[in-house]
Amino acid sequence: MCLISYKINQISASRTPCVLLMAACFFLLLVSLTSMSMASISNKEPVMSLTPRTIPLGGLALLDVVLPSGTWLQGISFLGREIPFFPREKHKGFEAILGAGLSVTPGRHALIIRWGGPEGLNVSTISVDVKYRKFPEERLVVARKMVEFPPRILKKVREDQHAVQKVCNMVTPRRYWKSSFVWPVNSRILSPFGLRRIFNGQPRSPHSGVDLRAPEGTPVRSANSGRVALVRNCYLSGWTMVVDHGCGLYTLYAHLSEVRIKQGTMVKRGEILGLSGKTGRATGAHLHWGISLLGTRLDPELFMKLLGCKGTP
Ligand SMILES: [Zn+2]
Repeated sequence: MCLISYKINQISASRTPCVLLMAACFFLLLVSLTSMSMASISNKEPVMSLTPRTIPLGGLALLDVVLPSGTWLQGISFLGREIPFFPREKHKGFEAILGAGLSVTPGRHALIIRWGGPEGLNVSTISVDVKYRKFPEERLVVARKMVEFPPRILKKVREDQHAVQKVCNMVTPRRYWKSSFVWPVNSRILSPFGLRRIFNGQPRSPHSGVDLRAPEGTPVRSANSGRVALVRNCYLSGWTMVVDHGCGLYTLYAHLSEVRIKQGTMVKRGEILGLSGKTGRATGAHLHWGISLLGTRLDPELFMKLLGCKGTP
């Protein structure tokens, strides 16, 4: 700009009004060219949309990214984690699932998208609102032996938790699931996600899944296609199966009376994994069903609202 005004000043000082007019036209042309190129730069930003726009604690959102042509998506990060992304099923662009576990501080968090173009690497950021949510509380008085374990049992409980968490922390770099998810049993929710149980005045970890009504022997179906990543008899959750749907997404099925699929087997959506029961620490037969995304437990009800088939369990 400085250079242009210097030249105009020089011309106007030494030539006729005709030359002055030409210089003015030249200046206007330059200004309009500059503003055109600015507009084209701003049009070359990725188009991002989030559904829903805010994420309640324990909830999730679907991110849609459409990049300018000739550019590529390098990475997405949210809450300090790299988020796996995958091509959209029917349209061009990419999708990713964002989750906000119960330990996330409510408020605004940056979602960062790194994308590459001919000029190099670019970074685009949007702000995602994580909303506080109050969970129900349940106070129970039970026999001491039900909540206080001897060291041998405590060791087994910790080993079980570690084994399940280790599997859920792994990120298979491909997507096994197709279209929408199905409820593993067709019934109703007995106990919601996030329920805070207080046994004999001592708070326990919030409920990590939903308890679904399932009389003993009810067929339990895989919520979507995937690989049976774990089959384990756990002290608390009894016979437990974990299905890997890829991209860090897992579904967990607990208290089963019978397991019908071996660890490592690929399963299809709706395929029977086993039968419901009351193995482990359960007062009656039901199915405890959990969702884990990048090692974080999320609310299966909100998950199914976003990614499930229409209807209730
Ligand atoms: Zn449960």
